[in-house]
Amino acid sequence: MPRKILVTSALPYANGSIHLGHLVEYIQTDIWVRFQKMRGNTCHYVCADDTHGTPIMLRAEKEGVTPEQLIARVWLEHFDDFRAFHVAFDNYGSTNSGETRDFAEGIYRTLKASDLIAVRSIEQYYDPLKHMFLPDRFIKGECPKCGAKDQYGDNCEVCGAAYAPTDLKHPYSAVSGAVPELRQSNHHFFRLSSPTCQQFLREWTRSGSLQPEASNKMQEWLGAEGENKLTDWDISRDAPYFGFEIPDAPGKYFYVWLDAPVGYMGSFKQLCKNRGIAFDDYWKQGSDAELYHFIGKDILYFHALFWPAMLQHAGFRTPTKLFAHGFLTVNGEKMSKSRGTFITASSYIEHVKNTEYLRYYYAAKLNGSMEDLDLNLDDFVARVNSDLIGKYINIASRSAGFISKRFEGKLADHALLAKCASTSGLAGKLVEDFPNKNLLEVLQDSAEQIAEMYEARDYSRATRTVGTLLDLINAYVDATKPWELAKDPSNVQWLQGVCSVALQAFRIITIYLKPVLPQLAKDIQAFLNVGELHWQDALTLLPDGHAINAYQHLMTRLDPKCIEAMVEANKQSLQLAPPPTSQQRHAEHQQHVVAPAAEIGDATLPLKKASMIAPIAETISIDEFNKVDLRVARILMAEHVEGAEKLLKLTLDIGEAQPRTVFAGIKSVYDPEKLKGRMTVMVANLAPRKMKFGLSEGMVLAASGEAPGLFILSPDAGAQPGMRIK
Ligand SMILES: [Zn+2]
Repeated sequence: MPRKILVTSALPYANGSIHLGHLVEYIQTDIWVRFQKMRGNTCHYVCADDTHGTPIMLRAEKEGVTPEQLIARVWLEHFDDFRAFHVAFDNYGSTNSGETRDFAEGIYRTLKASDLIAVRSIEQYYDPLKHMFLPDRFIKGECPKCGAKDQYGDNCEVCGAAYAPTDLKHPYSAVSGAVPELRQSNHHFFRLSSPTCQQFLREWTRSGSLQPEASNKMQEWLGAEGENKLTDWDISRDAPYFGFEIPDAPGKYFYVWLDAPVGYMGSFKQLCKNRGIAFDDYWKQGSDAELYHFIGKDILYFHALFWPAMLQHAGFRTPTKLFAHGFLTVNGEKMSKSRGTFITASSYIEHVKNTEYLRYYYAAKLNGSMEDLDLNLDDFVARVNSDLIGKYINIASRSAGFISKRFEGKLADHALLAKCASTSGLAGKLVEDFPNKNLLEVLQDSAEQIAEMYEARDYSRATRTVGTLLDLINAYVDATKPWELAKDPSNVQWLQGVCSVALQAFRIITIYLKPVLPQLAKDIQAFLNVGELHWQDALTLLPDGHAINAYQHLMTRLDPKCIEAMVEANKQSLQLAPPPTSQQRHAEHQQHVVAPAAEIGDATLPLKKASMIAPIAETISIDEFNKVDLRVARILMAEHVEGAEKLLKLTLDIGEAQPRTVFAGIKSVYDPEKLKGRMTVMVANLAPRKMKFGLSEGMVLAASGEAPGLFILSPDAGAQPGMRIK
């Protein structure tokens, strides 16, 4: 009996771009879903943009558009990114949908009827200029512990202290700069601390729905039997707010917890309408369908406690399992803009193009645990070229030509295959493991073992196992040497047999890698002249008399220069770009978002103008500005840099004993000859940065906007090198 499975990934927030950190989860989930479909299971994969909240409302206001226009634009961007990485949702929706609203309201009403909603007055900061209550992340001030300035209302980025916004000294609104006032307001709470929720969660978190490491964490959060460590969850926010108004509470809106995850249901409901699926088969209590949520470990608390308790008490089924994964590091460190490793999906697509390289690399690193995953860029290039091109694609490129040219594309019949496929006579350790076996049978015997690894999300073991099989096939081709056989006409049968074994083997491996490399598998299906390959097809061979199509180039080597260019472009975009938008800054703060937590700068600009310029950055104090040491500089020399597409090397005099060297990304707009002798402005106390072409000891300033063009600054006549700009 095929299984009925519903799978979700966490909802990306509609206030930022998809980056390589997000893609760990979507690629992990997509591989699992594709595997389930290949196994013949009924598997639906849904997701949606998480669209509500204060950050979206304020950003739309600043851009001079409606929130609906903003989220529609971001939805398209996200959709295109996912499609480029072959993440094949069955439905990609939005939480701002009628379906999600209906479920949110229904759940709220049921919980309320069960006495699980409480209303309590809480005291919160209020912005008297913007006439709105301020979320913690929109209040800044001095850290109560270490005194650091401009810290957020929930924790200090300098000393790491956590506190309440009311603990901040000299608080101000990050929205308007106004001094906030404390005001009372009624909030709605889900009574997670109620005995019924506690009791249910104790059982649920021990029911095997969580990975062992997550289950232990939950026991810690729940506390010992009889202990009550859970607190009620605030599920409302006051107007103005972009979201769904609570049905019986005018001016109050559902906060993220009661609409974002409900988006899983809303998106699935849309799919049900499109495909005639019965929603209740998957969501009603007692359903025999399986429900899996792939999530980042940062939103585990919420998915393992609040979400199941809410579903259970609203009459829905609870998740079968939660699959939490770790975060992405690049070259062993947190993704960083200054190192050029904060890489968006679109930047990867622009520079590397082939998105299946990354799918393969992530697969080779992913297991079913919550450990972090490292994208080592050198290792990435090496693995793609050695595993995918060297071991896998080469099998086809070395054998297909003979079959096409000598045998009109026809493969050897099964009797001949059986004669040619023996591993006896092959040299090496691998052959000792598989002595005197039929190579194709060895490959087929691994089908169930590899399937179990995919099922357990242990893709790294699956790719390692496939790697061992690839070594065996390559050992076979090396030992039988079709290129030698081709020289002697009396070997013609052997030649057809040996090349056919290699191609039959190539087809089986293609089945094993298809969940990871769906586009490549599609191209190979066309080349092998076969239909859609399913998992079971690994157990059969192409029939007697089957003819393949002529071999066409399947995959190119990954050029390390693409990676260098991508990293360099990300550094340069930082160096010379306009200040990062709130969207980019938002993205930097998180890998996975359910709770909106963005910083937004001054939103008081006239609306019409705001849509034409990049958003103004957050307010800083004069002390912070004074930290930047700006000096008048004379450009002594400007030179082209060998091998750099965008950079000029500038030698700058700022009145010091030695001139400084600065690499500036202005080659496209400035002729070096014309820069010599002119005055400009540089940041003199920027940490020196080692670049590919040498050490850069500062930065020259240039203006740029949406339109093309880049304009370096000049002081008025009379200014001398070394003068400070204040
Ligand atoms: Zn501090």
